[in-house]
Amino acid sequence: MDEAVLVIEDEPKIARLLEIELQYEGYRVGKAGSGTEGLEKYAGGQWDLILLDIMLPGLSGIEVLRRIRAKDASIPILLLTAKDSVEDKVSGLDLGANDYITKPFRIEELLARVRAALRLSAAAASAAVSSMGGPNEAGNGGQVSDAGMAEPESGWLSAADLKLNEGTREVLRNGKPIELTPREFDLLVYLLRNQRQVLTREQIVQSVWGFDYYGDTNVVDVYIRYVRKKVDNGFAQPLIHTVRGVGYVLKETI
Ligand code: CA
Repeated sequence: MDEAVLVIEDEPKIARLLEIELQYEGYRVGKAGSGTEGLEKYAGGQWDLILLDIMLPGLSGIEVLRRIRAKDASIPILLLTAKDSVEDKVSGLDLGANDYITKPFRIEELLARVRAALRLSAAAASAAVSSMGGPNEAGNGGQVSDAGMAEPESGWLSAADLKLNEGTREVLRNGKPIELTPREFDLLVYLLRNQRQVLTREQIVQSVWGFDYYGDTNVVDVYIRYVRKKVDNGFAQPLIHTVRGVGYVLKETI
C-alpha cells in the first residue's frame, strides 16, 4: 500500500498523531497547518485522500473543501469537526465531503473511516475502468490466509488464561478469541514479554511507538484503555494494572 494522505490540521499535536498513525498503517503522509498551505500542498502533490480540519486559521476548512471540490470531484475528503457543530457537518456534506469525524476521535475509528473511504474510492475508480471495457481487478477476495496452524504450540506468550501467538496473531482469553488492532497487538506483546515488570509510559512509547514519537505519552493511557476493555473487561481476574505515578504492569494476581 502506498496511498498518500494529506492532513490539513492546525493543531500540531493532532497533526503529528495522525501522521504517526497513518504512516504506521503504511500511508505516505503530507501535513499542512493552515487552509492556504493545505491548498498549496494539494495542488503540488498526488493525493489519495484528504483529512481536513474545519476550524482552521484564515481560510476555513469549509472554504478549502469548496475550492478542492471545484477542481476534483472524486478525491475522498474526510472532515474533522468539533463536537456539536451540526451546521459545519451539514454544509460540509453538502459541499461534497465524503464523511466527517467528530473530535475528540478514537484513532482506530478514524483509521477505519480512512480505509473505508479509500476502498470506496478505489471501487468507484475500478467500476469506471470496467465500464469502459478495461480489465477489472477482483477486489481482495483472493487473499491468502497465512495463519500457520501447523505448530500451534510455538510462539505463544501467556499470562493466566490469556494467550497470544505472535506468529498467527491470535489472542485468546479463556479460550475465547479477542480481536486487536495492530497497535493494540504490539502493546499487548510488549506487556506480555515484560510481565511482572512495572513499565513507565516513556518505556512503552519508545518500545511500541518507536523513538521518533514526539507526541506526549497520553497515547499510552488511551491504548491501555482500549486493550483493557478487550482483554480484561468481563473477566474476574484483571491482568493489566495501573501503578500510580509510574506506569503499568501486566501480571497475574492471586
Ligand atoms: Ca483546528
